Amino acid sequence: MSGSRRAGVWWHRRSLKLRLALWFTLIAGGLMLALLPVVYSLIRSRLSADMDRQLRIDWDLIEAHLETDGAGGIRWRSSSPATPDSPGYAESWFDVWMEGRNVLRHWPKHGAEVLDAPPAAGKQDPRYYRISLANDQPARTYQKPAVIGGRLVTLRVFRDESGHRATLRRIVSSLALGLPVAVLLAAAGGTLLAGRALRPLGTMAEQARQITSESLAKRLPVANPHDELGQLAGVFNETLGRLEASFESLKRFTADASHELRTPLAALRTVGEIALREEHDPAVLRDTISSMLEESQRLHDLIDTLLMLARVESGRHPLQHETIDINDLVREVGERLEVLAAEKQQRLAIRTSPGVAVQADRGLLDQALTNLLHNAIRFSPSDALIEVSAVRRGGDVLVEVADEGPGIAPEHRAKIFERFYRVDTARSRSAGGSGLGLALAKLAIEQCDGRIDLEPSPAGGCLFRIILPAAP
Ligand code: ADP
Repeated sequence: MSGSRRAGVWWHRRSLKLRLALWFTLIAGGLMLALLPVVYSLIRSRLSADMDRQLRIDWDLIEAHLETDGAGGIRWRSSSPATPDSPGYAESWFDVWMEGRNVLRHWPKHGAEVLDAPPAAGKQDPRYYRISLANDQPARTYQKPAVIGGRLVTLRVFRDESGHRATLRRIVSSLALGLPVAVLLAAAGGTLLAGRALRPLGTMAEQARQITSESLAKRLPVANPHDELGQLAGVFNETLGRLEASFESLKRFTADASHELRTPLAALRTVGEIALREEHDPAVLRDTISSMLEESQRLHDLIDTLLMLARVESGRHPLQHETIDINDLVREVGERLEVLAAEKQQRLAIRTSPGVAVQADRGLLDQALTNLLHNAIRFSPSDALIEVSAVRRGGDVLVEVADEGPGIAPEHRAKIFERFYRVDTARSRSAGGSGLGLALAKLAIEQCDGRIDLEPSPAGGCLFRIILPAAP
């Protein structure tokens, strides 16, 4: 593993708190490090500017005290009450050059030292520069031409720069010492901040750990719904709510499914046991066998429907969206179920209209429509009229199945599409219903991007309406 990958792995294995604290320290340390040279050069230029100002004052003072002597040289003005060593002058040393010769100098501490001639006068004048004296003592120099008693000379003033250098050294060493301390303080502050910011997360994790499938009703406390952690807790609580609802419906479904499977199985066993217990002639036995076969067929149908529901719901049912002319489908389903309606002397009216093509899975749509029409036939009395129609409304295609049966009371309408929900359980079961027909129809229509509604029919029965987006 390369070094950078190993570092990446190490980094990702650390806690968020440590990573945040390290980031904080790194950024704070980097900023301080970047600021150090800026602070240093600001202080240095400030000190230099102060010294240069002082040198200019020195130069003006000294120049005012110079005069020519009788021998063609330059001297300290004899009438002046101050000497070069008087207070206010002693700090600065100076020398005067004329035609390349040193004609006067004042060196209180460096008596014998002879300095190089000043750079030739030119455009750069006045100028500032640094010189090193014999013992490496730094001196800042200000050089400017002057006219003394009508003679052009070069007057230089010097000031000892070692104090200034020492100040800078002290600043550098205190900055160098202070930096690690500041970085340590930043690290401590970062750790404290990260710890405080992440503490609610730890509490949330602890509480989330205590939530199991048995305690899904519990929720995480939301301390502040406006910050990120509060929003996270809110989202988590919403997820818990959905999970709780799914668990509840799963439990209900398992209980209902077991109950539904147990009923035909119990009937099968009872019929078989009774037949075995007594002597029967072949005609009675045949009746018994046919009723057992009926129950086993019901069981088979129920399992088939349950499997179909599970397949569609989990997305394992392969969807084949194709353009379907609803008129054809309605006619096809009508023809298939016509015999059942005929048995009850019911009239089946199929009304078609143009422009009712949709993009959907034919098998699922067929299943939904079959279930609705089958229910209409089963629950409507003899002689009733059952109408199936397909119309276009705007961008939608509406398929309606209306009957003249007992209808469904408003209090049942919201639940009628739930699995195993029946208005009259005994009647539905005796009519061969499993309580899954409408649930499957709803799921099938939703898979085709449509929806299904229930309304009272004008004729007093039910009106189921499928709404699907029309094919482009
Ligand atoms: P079932 O197999 O019991 O018919 P469904 O899911 O198809 O199951 O229907 C659920 C319940 O809705 C039925 O038991 C019945 O009470 C009611 N129902 C469905 N369709 C109609 C209808 N056309 N008229 C009256 N009641 C109906």
